[in-house]
Amino acid sequence: MAKRNEQMKLHTLGFPRIGTRRELKFALEQYWQGRISKQEFLQTGADIRRQNWAIQQQAGIELLPVGDFANYDHVLNTSLYLGIIPQRFARDSDSSDKLDLEFRIARGRAPTGCACAASDMTKWFNTNYHYIVPELSQQLDIRVDIQPLLEQIEEAKNLGHESKPVLLGPLSYLYLSAFEGDKLQLLPQLLAGYQQIFDKLNSARAGWLQIDEPILGLELDADWQKAFRQAYGELRQGSLKLLLTSYFASIDHHLDLIASLPLHGVHIDCVAEPTDIQLTIDMLPRHWVVSLGVIDGRNIWKSDLSALYQKLEPLYAQLNGRTWLAPSCSLLHCPVDLEQEDKLDPQIKSWLAFASQKCQELSLLKQALLTGDTAAIEQYSAPVKARLVSAQAVNTALRERIGSLTQVQRAEPYAVRKQKQQSLALPQLPTTTIGSFPQTAEIRRLRAAYKRKELSSEEYIQAMQQQIEDCIARQEEIGLDVLVHGEPERNDMVEYFADFLDGVTSTRYGWVQSYGSRCVKPPVIYGDITRKQAMTTDWLSYAQSLTDKPVKGMLTGPVTILCWSFVRDDLSREQVARQIALAVSDETEDLINAGIKIIQIDEPAIREGMPVKHSQWQQYLDWAVACFRLACARAPADVQIHSHMCYSEFNDILDAIIALDADVLTVETSRSNMVLLDAFKHKAYPNDIGPGVYDIHSPNVPDTGWITDLLKKALEVVPAERLWVNPDCGLKTRGWQETRAALTNMVTAAQQLRAEL
Ligand code: GLN
Ligand code: ZN
Repeated sequence: MAKRNEQMKLHTLGFPRIGTRRELKFALEQYWQGRISKQEFLQTGADIRRQNWAIQQQAGIELLPVGDFANYDHVLNTSLYLGIIPQRFARDSDSSDKLDLEFRIARGRAPTGCACAASDMTKWFNTNYHYIVPELSQQLDIRVDIQPLLEQIEEAKNLGHESKPVLLGPLSYLYLSAFEGDKLQLLPQLLAGYQQIFDKLNSARAGWLQIDEPILGLELDADWQKAFRQAYGELRQGSLKLLLTSYFASIDHHLDLIASLPLHGVHIDCVAEPTDIQLTIDMLPRHWVVSLGVIDGRNIWKSDLSALYQKLEPLYAQLNGRTWLAPSCSLLHCPVDLEQEDKLDPQIKSWLAFASQKCQELSLLKQALLTGDTAAIEQYSAPVKARLVSAQAVNTALRERIGSLTQVQRAEPYAVRKQKQQSLALPQLPTTTIGSFPQTAEIRRLRAAYKRKELSSEEYIQAMQQQIEDCIARQEEIGLDVLVHGEPERNDMVEYFADFLDGVTSTRYGWVQSYGSRCVKPPVIYGDITRKQAMTTDWLSYAQSLTDKPVKGMLTGPVTILCWSFVRDDLSREQVARQIALAVSDETEDLINAGIKIIQIDEPAIREGMPVKHSQWQQYLDWAVACFRLACARAPADVQIHSHMCYSEFNDILDAIIALDADVLTVETSRSNMVLLDAFKHKAYPNDIGPGVYDIHSPNVPDTGWITDLLKKALEVVPAERLWVNPDCGLKTRGWQETRAALTNMVTAAQQLRAEL
């Protein structure tokens, strides 16, 4: 038997910061509403950190992360450490409270007043977590302050923990920032700031420093590679020991580069993509620690520890004490504790592991590697093996149906469809909305009461019908051309559909942070997916029965359902998406049979499903587009298919968006003043398009003139026959008052412009 070495360390790259019961979310909201004091808010953060460390330590994690916590976002924390504050907030930065400054940057407002435009927020790689985009300028004016981090290091120390500070590395920070011009030009200034951070950590005798450089998963060009060498070559580390971490993708392609940097260790994600661990070990300097991220940090499946043991045993012996084990990435993307799930089917529960359980998995694995005794991990892994052969996971009839599909896209081309859709008798520049209308307190109360069984199904249906009736009446009054039912019955655009699908289940407490105080509870896809029953037709038929105007049916697309769920890992994402697409296409067909003439299939998440590596984009886009097309395949030419997307970064995937071939595409553009449309100057969008004319994220009511101007801008790029008029996104977070005012102005603008055409 190989020599067992005691030095193997278990660590994590970060732990969920929302708390077991979303304590952070509630504290944030209460603080923003002025219902708790700053002191109480900060205490909640400290409590969560203390609890997180305790959970991890009790599970057997030896080196605990510090600095993974954030009041709002860890990228924003990095900006604050460096003192990189956008100019419009800078005047507040000396005088005012640091915490309020933090929230102003993140949200554009804070309890103490001031309303400025918030910094942009964008998706963290291919996750559903959003970070606050640092805004860089030519003169960075860096003022380092890592007091909060130092205090947390102290906090951990006082609790007797061995800790490892976590810091987003300079290259990734720069790469993820917004700057007009050559970002690398700013590197020297930035490095001066990082040097001060290093110096301060040195004075605090930090020891190990986890430095996150997730952009190493991307294909970096020669300039960025050179910048890595230069940056890490220049930074004086003192007695800090750098553990460079990367995640969400393999870094095999950058091993030469990484091996040339002055580091003490590297963490690799062994889960996201197949990666050659042996090659990594061979290429890295012999004295480095190699941290193997073998437990999936982004998903909720229990690990097959016996399979991992087989894989790691020989490597572990060979590494002779230089192996650390960890989850693949920060556990931020995972819910906290499975134990709370008291309503889950016990069999499904036996297949799952949340953040706390994943820490325990590492411990079990380490024990087996240290002792060679595999009894415990074999017992632990039995349910994983059971899942793979479970009857719940496979639906043979569905697989046969998918195998024999013939109609995978619509039969007629757009030009023919456009002609046939004249039967809808819509005016030029038709007005519509994106689907949801204000989710009032009353609507939420009704849904909650129904869930708690305080309302019978009949009572609930009646109450929702009343809401729909009200919503239709208001839209008629406003004068919109294509109406919607308003989505009062939907808590969430993915969870609503998940509840109707076999092979998918919901959890009670499986919350994950999306941004700031916003958390999402992704459904769990554990088996083949089929539709239990029609999901939307009753609501839609009812809505259509109330009006002569067309009511647009509202579905969530297959790629978005996939991206916003925890997806089984025993089938490719493509296969899972295809199953969802078929379920959506069944629903499309039912809606059509129920007399619905316009159907919107939302795909807001299509962009975020993109793999980290550019070289894999096309393959993903090919199947993502195919799934969308399958979802609409059975719509005859006279039925109009809409799709909607938000988050303005899709200039680089225009071809795929065109390939979706929706009859009408509504997109978010107003925040960027229609610059999105510039892309279409070079490449005309061939079908109908509705660039959002006002930002629904703000309660401000746009005036008619402003909307008219935007529409005129749009008309420079899109001919009037193909231009639609609509807001940027759904209105569910808005109140009725501003919604009515804004839509009325929008309709007026469209009517005035129509008269001029
Ligand atoms: N139809 C959805 C709504 O209006 C679309 C939401 C979204 O784009 N995220 O709420
Ligand atoms: Zn949207």
